Amino acid sequence: MNCTQCPVSCGADRSKNKGACSVQGLKIAKYYLHPFEEPPISFKNGSGCIFFCGCPLKCRFCQNFEVSRAQRGKDISVKELADIFRELEDMGADNINLVTPTQYLSDIAEAFSIYKPHIPVIYNTHGYEKIESLKIADTFTDIWLPDLKFISPELSARYTSRPDYAKYALPAVEFMAQKPAAFDEDGKMLSGCIIRHLIMPLGVEDSINIVNFVAALPRTVYFSLMSQYTPCGDIKDIPELNRRITSREYKKVLAAVEAAGLENVFLQDKSSAEQSFIPKWDY
Ligand code: SF4
Repeated sequence: MNCTQCPVSCGADRSKNKGACSVQGLKIAKYYLHPFEEPPISFKNGSGCIFFCGCPLKCRFCQNFEVSRAQRGKDISVKELADIFRELEDMGADNINLVTPTQYLSDIAEAFSIYKPHIPVIYNTHGYEKIESLKIADTFTDIWLPDLKFISPELSARYTSRPDYAKYALPAVEFMAQKPAAFDEDGKMLSGCIIRHLIMPLGVEDSINIVNFVAALPRTVYFSLMSQYTPCGDIKDIPELNRRITSREYKKVLAAVEAAGLENVFLQDKSSAEQSFIPKWDY
């Protein structure tokens, strides 16, 4: 079957060839209980993250470069993926967190038809999504966790392989923002949408545009402002990305968050801008 699951719509026959997302079969890099997501996601025992290999977006600054380019990882079957859902649940995971899943959407949907855990399922995406794929993902997703990386086509062309990032990401985030928020009595998130935005060096203007976009979404949406950009990946010829953001840049975006009246906000401690926060891959 020719794959059109993501906006690249490269049409690869993945039974024979790799797609533009660099993957063919079903391949993962790691699964474990992750303690460093937003508090109602990591909650008490950790989020049951499954890191999927490959990515159509190909951010030049990707902190998971080896995984997003599928240079490492382990091929598994759909049945083995369903077994991983069960194993993470048995380990006490507070949720199942599917990290960069869309290139495997049909496999993941099939795995959930084999075993659906009794804990929330999180769809953790770069935001570059087709609505028709999100509608399929919605059949098993409780919490949307999209990035909103850029509005500027110039920035997305410079930093990813996709100048049309915002053309797809903005309606995708609007779709995901419709999910009603719900928490249990202890504060664990059961349903909803958390939009993440990573402030980029020299990217304050685009960040402020993103804050204003989020401010116009339903007020049940949560916004996670991330300050941990750290130079990674293939950025030798992009000089502005060879530094972390400054306190001045961070404060400007934070002021925009306050001015826009956003209330449901998670802020990330700048001390988390360390490479030691990048997982060590298992495969
Ligand atoms: S998910 Fe991969 S194979 Fe499918 S359309 Fe996107 S880039 Fe191509």
